[in-house]
Amino acid sequence: LAIFSAPVWTANQVHLGRLYVFRDVTHERAVERMKSEFVAMVSHELRTPLTSIKGYIDMLLDGDAGPLAVEHQELLQIVKSNADRLLLLINDLLDMSRIEAGKLMLHRAPLDVRPLIRQVATALRPQLDAKHQRLNLDLSETPPDDAPPLMFGDAARVHQILTNVLSNAIKYTPQGGEISVRLSVEPPWMCIAVQDTGIGLTPEEQERIFDRFYRVRNRATREASGTGLGLAITRSLVDLHQGRITVESEAGRGSTFRICFPLLTSLDGINDDEALAQ
Ligand code: ADP
Repeated sequence: LAIFSAPVWTANQVHLGRLYVFRDVTHERAVERMKSEFVAMVSHELRTPLTSIKGYIDMLLDGDAGPLAVEHQELLQIVKSNADRLLLLINDLLDMSRIEAGKLMLHRAPLDVRPLIRQVATALRPQLDAKHQRLNLDLSETPPDDAPPLMFGDAARVHQILTNVLSNAIKYTPQGGEISVRLSVEPPWMCIAVQDTGIGLTPEEQERIFDRFYRVRNRATREASGTGLGLAITRSLVDLHQGRITVESEAGRGSTFRICFPLLTSLDGINDDEALAQ
């Protein structure tokens, strides 16, 4: 049941009472749930054959069926990169439908984010190099390795959050730009700031970039592949960790995305939080 209410006044400001409107949304909820379940089912069914296609492409590229001419290798690389894009899209759709259905499970444990940041940076090295971009990692404001700042997180999901934000910084920053990732401990939070010198965002765009399927209408966005789901998923994943994500940006100058998670020491009753998040 959805309830809306508003005060009712006469023309000369006498308060008459409140008007309540009750609306039965059972049907809408059922339709939403069916839509989510349908998307989840279709994405899952698409993923299985696609994973098999990718496996066979890799076998061919590895020469398992005999040596390939250079032209054949080049064509197969194109097939492979399109299969990879399709898999990313399907995984995003699956994540989004799980989030909407409240079915995305976190597997949380005490987590040091510094090795994760390094892993994500290494995985994105080819994209950075292809655009001649420099990446500065500043993890130094944190204590030495024997006392790492910990959060209570799902390593794979935090990896996904960092990958989304960092790969956006690369995509929406021109050739030769600079990107920095800074970790800071600001009790009761630990924050990761990803700053770029890219195309930036107007205040109106900043309001909408976390919406599902929203992509800014500009050349850089048209040329970069994407679905407009990345930041919507990222924000939901950050929320599930009881964290916050914000953006500061100036069009034409660059953007800074700040992701803050509760420091593990400041969480009272991990089990309660875990129960809430699931
Ligand atoms: P996409 O798959 O299009 O990258 P996202 O949800 O990750 O989708 O981002 C939504 C939109 O926000 C992007 O299409 C892009 O227009 C804008 N955007 C995201 N990150 C940045 C950034 N670092 N700099 C400028 N624009 C950005």
